[in-house]
This record gives sequence, C-alpha cells and structure tokens, in this order.
Amino acid sequence: MDKKTQLLVGPTVLPSKVKEAMGHDAYSHRSLYYKETQHRVTEGLKKIFGTKNDVLLLTTSGTGAMEAVIQNVFMPGDEVIIPINGVFGELFYNVAKGYDLKIIRIDFEYGYEVDENKVLEAITTETKGILMIHNESSTGIMNDVKNLGLALKDSDVLLIVDSVSGAGGIELNMDDWNIDVLFTASQKALMSPPGLAFVSLSDKAWAAVDRVNNPKYLFNFKRDREYAQRDLTVHTPATHTLLAVDAALAMIVTEGLENVIQRHTDNATLLRRELKKLGFELFAKNEKYASSTLTSVFSKDNAGYYVKELAKENIMIGGGKNPLKTDTFRIGTMGYVYRNDVMACIETLKRIVTR
Ligand SMILES: *Cc1c(COP(=O)(O)O)cnc(C)c1O
Repeated sequence: MDKKTQLLVGPTVLPSKVKEAMGHDAYSHRSLYYKETQHRVTEGLKKIFGTKNDVLLLTTSGTGAMEAVIQNVFMPGDEVIIPINGVFGELFYNVAKGYDLKIIRIDFEYGYEVDENKVLEAITTETKGILMIHNESSTGIMNDVKNLGLALKDSDVLLIVDSVSGAGGIELNMDDWNIDVLFTASQKALMSPPGLAFVSLSDKAWAAVDRVNNPKYLFNFKRDREYAQRDLTVHTPATHTLLAVDAALAMIVTEGLENVIQRHTDNATLLRRELKKLGFELFAKNEKYASSTLTSVFSKDNAGYYVKELAKENIMIGGGKNPLKTDTFRIGTMGYVYRNDVMACIETLKRIVTR
C-alpha cells in the first residue's frame, strides 16, 4: 500500500473537496461569482477569528501579513514589545526591525511558553504594541493570548497576534480577548494551498492605522478595507486559493467549528500520550501549553532519523526548524487530520523504535 498518511506542519494536507474546488476555470475577480465567494470566505473567517470586524484578504503568505501589519499599524521609532519563544517570534522581530521600530525583546527559552506577566511588566508609557505568536510552530507551544488580552483591557497598547498555525484549529475570540490585530494564512489549519493571508483589525487598531503615514503601496489597509466592504480586493487576488478556502470553510461548517477544535485537541492529546508511552520526550516543557495543531518531539541529534524512517513507511511528518533541525521533529495535527492518521503514525513509530 502506498497511500500516504500526512501529518504535516504546513503547507498541510488538502482534502479532496478542496482540490476539486481548485479545478475551476479561470474567473474574473470583478465578477459576481467572485464577490459572493469572497463574501462567504470573510464571513466564515469572522467566525473562526471570533470577531465582528472586517476581514481583509491579502494575496501573500503569513510573513507578508506580518509585514503588512507592521507597515500599516506602526511608524519608525514606535516602541513595541516582542516576546520570543521560537523561530516565528524571531521572524516577527526581524520584520519589525526592518521597519525601525524600537523593540523591547523578551526571550523565553525554546520549549517554554511566553509568560504574559513578563510581557505586562515590560510595558512603558511609550509602548504602542505587543507583537506575538499565538501558536509557535517551531516548538509546538500555544501561548496564552487570551490571558494577555484580558489583562490589556482598557489599555492603549495594541495586541497584535499571529495565528498563522492556529486559526481554524484552535479557539480564538478576537473581540472578547481584546486582540487588536489578528492574522492567519491559507496553508495551515485552513487546509488550503498557500497564497492568501487574512487580517482583521479592531477599532483601536484602525485608529492607529489613521495615524500612520509610512510609504506603502501594495498593502494599504485603508484602501483594502474600502474594497473589502464591497467584497473585492484592489489588485488580482489568488482566485483559486480563494476557492480552496471557501471549500475548506464549508467543511469546517459541516463538521462544526467546535467539533473541529475539539478534534485538534483530542488528536494532539492522544499523540502526546502515545509518544510518551514510546519513551519520547516532548519538546514542550509544560504540557499545559503544548499545541494542539502540532507536536514537537525532542530527539537530540537524531530527529532526522525518525522523519526518514516514517517517510519510508509512507507516514509524512515535518522536520525540525533551524536551530532545532537536528534535535526535533514535528508531527502535524493541523487541518485535515483524524484519529486514524494519528494512530497510523503511532503504530509505525512503535515498530521503528522496537525493531
Ligand atoms: C507558517 C507560519 C508563518 C509564516 O509563514 P509563511 O511561510 O510566510 O506563510 C508565520 N507564523 C507562524 C506561526 C507560522 O506557523
């Protein structure tokens, strides 16, 4: 049997309905058909984000959304706090540095969660924003953006959250948790190919956008919002990725968002329990913060071996991300992954470790 079981960390598995949706003819991004599709997709994403705010659709990857947010919400010299507990936090830092923000960086040892108290303590009278990763995909840690957001109630500080590998698989309540900017991308828990990113801003964040006069052209949120309110984008969007996301969101609605989120939790819990039984060490130091969209496993200098041996048996997982490349491997439970996929991975790992 050579059917592959895919437990990927992004881009993730494409369900057949998603692949079929992309087999569509070319179509105009000014057509009614397009507008109706964009409308459904943004309405669906509002539910996943837990927001009443508009959702902008950007044709770019997750990093492009990071950059667009920094460009539109902050000006050079603005003070921001960036907690870093993995490679994607580091990426956010590097993007922000490129725009000359005044950055207070707070480092946490990889494998640990961001301690929101340390972040709160770092706020000064000058702080304009906190830039953070919801689900740190390099280490498999879910940071507690909820607690941080709740603590920021009535504060002027903007909370900017990257949920590229969370949205669609992990609970989000942008409005209730006081998240001011939330973004994700199409190719992780949203079960679609790369090509689209989605960003939503609170009223407080829109007020910040009004203040900013950075030079920019492609991603101009004010203009993007004018178009979004007519279910359009300014320039040509990734029309077929949009069809994919539309199909994926329909699948999420059919299964029920709460059930989808529960499935992610259950699969990751099962996976961690079985990995520990096999003697593996989880990279997440506090299991309470272990991600439900991916699990990082620590295997000093030997992680590549498991990736390769599993691949030989048609179980596809993710390798580690530098600087964790040789010491960790990552098993995705994000998007279109079910219990039987997790069990197939576990059974195969069991054979590998006991032979
Ligand atoms: C995948 C990912 C990104 C960015 O991804 P792109 O490769 O630019 O799409 C950003 N943040 C997190 C947490 C991610 O998992």
